[in-house]
Amino acid sequence: MMASAVDAVVVGAGVIGLSTGVCLAEAGLKVRIRTAELPRNSTSAAAVAMIGPALGPPADAASAWERASIEEFSRLAEVADTGVHMCRGRLAVREMPAEPPQGFEICARDELPEGFSFGFWASLPLVDMPRYLGYLAGRFERLGGTIDVRPIGSLAEAAREAALVANCPGVGARDLVPDPLVRPVRGQQVIVENPGLDTFFIEAARGSAWVGYHPHGDHLTLGGVAVVDDWNLDPDPVQSEAIRRRCIKVEPRLASARVLGHRVGLRPGRPSVRLEVEEVEGARVVHDYGHGSVGVMLSWGCARQAVALLLGPQRAA
Ligand SMILES: Cc1cc2nc3c(=O)[nH]c(=O)nc-3n(C[C@H](O)[C@H](O)[C@H](O)COP(=O)(O)OP(=O)(O)OC[C@H]3O[C@@H](n4cnc5c(N)ncnc54)[C@H](O)[C@@H]3O)c2cc1C
Repeated sequence: MMASAVDAVVVGAGVIGLSTGVCLAEAGLKVRIRTAELPRNSTSAAAVAMIGPALGPPADAASAWERASIEEFSRLAEVADTGVHMCRGRLAVREMPAEPPQGFEICARDELPEGFSFGFWASLPLVDMPRYLGYLAGRFERLGGTIDVRPIGSLAEAAREAALVANCPGVGARDLVPDPLVRPVRGQQVIVENPGLDTFFIEAARGSAWVGYHPHGDHLTLGGVAVVDDWNLDPDPVQSEAIRRRCIKVEPRLASARVLGHRVGLRPGRPSVRLEVEEVEGARVVHDYGHGSVGVMLSWGCARQAVALLLGPQRAA
């Protein structure tokens, strides 16, 4: 059956594709998302996801995307049923940093777990990703957008469906574009019942494993790991146990928390985000992929810039 005509096709229904789809539809376009998998099966569904704090230099492009997203997620935290809430928590390191971040409430000595020498408190938007992706998909569909669960084999195929294409396939960009700079960085979370915690804790990661726990109402996500070039989507029970052990060491109340499940995702690793326009068989294609470990945090800033690149800044506003 021939698909109906649309103004724009978005490839991918992770957080990047859905946010871009919403922005295009809000600009008045008829939009179809073509996706290999439903949002709940994307990497995005396996993210924590913590938004901020913005610590990078303000002139940096990524910092601008991050600040735009922090503003949007802070607004969404005020709206019911988005899966976003504001949460206070500690960001900590084991070794004293050469340049401690300015403008934050520094943790007192007795607020730091054993083995940590510096930390600060921050209030940030936390996103319960399965719920948030459901909210985004609903917002997109209420704007008249459609989600077609059918992978595309090439960008030329998308270009034949619409004159405007937003290419947001996450780690799928490695084969689809093809872009050999994109590599999977596997992550895994343990989901546990919340024993009554209302603050998060995250260790600034320097290696492939760290401590992170984040409350989302009745449950918590425990992490974290980052394994480059690992495509395995099955939860690894040894890794899950190691994640639990590390988190319990920092927060002993987690020892009694019942395990509810496991989530695995492949972060789309790339030396930098690719956000630029290319012409493919007469269609204007904006690439928006390679967000690594911060795709949720960059999602609104990148979506708005992708739409501006497709439509021009006036229509995208
Ligand atoms: C454990 C873990 C914790 C994380 N924590 C955070 C965090 O705290 N904060 C943060 O900002 N980020 C976090 N991230 C990173 C974040 O999840 C990613 O950066 C983000 O989800 C990438 O979104 P995406 O839409 O580009 O990719 P994805 O979510 O992978 O979506 C890609 C979409 O493209 C589709 N697709 C692929 N190929 C094709 C094709 N050929 N045709 C059609 N469709 C295709 C897929 O089906 C999917 O729908 C975390 C990731 C993990 C794994």
